[in-house]
Amino acid sequence: MGKLKLIVFSDLDGTLLDHCTYQFDAAKATLERLRTINVPVILNTSKTFAEVKEIHSALKLDTPFIIENGAAIYIPKGTFKQQPADTKRVGDYWVKSFCVQRQHWLDLLSRKAAQYAPHYRGFSQLSDSTLSLLTGLTLQQATRAKQRQYGEPIQWLGDELTKTQFIQHLTKLGATVVQGGRFIHVGGYCDKGQALSWLTKKYQQSLTNEHLKTDHLNNDRLKNDAHNNGSILTVALGDGENDNSMLEVANVAVQVRSPAHDFPSLHRQSKIIQTLQYGPEGWAQAMQQILSAHPQQN
Ligand SMILES: [Mg+2]
Repeated sequence: MGKLKLIVFSDLDGTLLDHCTYQFDAAKATLERLRTINVPVILNTSKTFAEVKEIHSALKLDTPFIIENGAAIYIPKGTFKQQPADTKRVGDYWVKSFCVQRQHWLDLLSRKAAQYAPHYRGFSQLSDSTLSLLTGLTLQQATRAKQRQYGEPIQWLGDELTKTQFIQHLTKLGATVVQGGRFIHVGGYCDKGQALSWLTKKYQQSLTNEHLKTDHLNNDRLKNDAHNNGSILTVALGDGENDNSMLEVANVAVQVRSPAHDFPSLHRQSKIIQTLQYGPEGWAQAMQQILSAHPQQN
């Protein structure tokens, strides 16, 4: 097998960003090194496009990113030679969506779950200042967090029994309902793992095409490499339950230690790194370990 090209998929809060301060200073040098050796770092987060765009530029990344828990991938135009099939052009990006739009769920809530309306407040009903108060986000951050495209987070105000009935009702109507830390998320089914797999395939195709063009002599060997998916090594790093889908499908899973909870349990048994340190310190430690095992060419 030839050299493996690394692709890194990373959660943000509690993983690349510190759980409490949202800083990433401890990972800066490693990020810089990854940039120098052309290892793509793909953010894979529950945050919105507006939120990720801000962080993406603070991290000086020019790579694709995955928003709203795998609901869509934003691929900067030019990342690949050709626009990938099944994507649409939005501004400077090619966008692959895995879920129906938020409006579908807002309509569903108002038309088919109206009896529960007194028991909750959705993001769309909250002002920026209320959301800021509820979450500790600044007003600007709250504005960006509210710009969700694929689902509706809900603050539950009622009792537990009614909540269970509400969730059952929505599930029957085809919604996927996930209980988060502060909010209940109502949306279509998507996860971070599905998005990781789709994007990895695009990188694989692009890499294979490049090789086939530049190295006719070794055509057969390279075709074989592509077929056994031997040329890419995916690494996923996350700290929470909602990272499990990507940690299960990546070649190497990095569980970043959280000060808030234990490591979520995984089905996979091998190629798991559990960091000793929290957040960005742990992130950098794991990436350095992986880079030493898989040195990359510029
Ligand atoms: Mg997290």
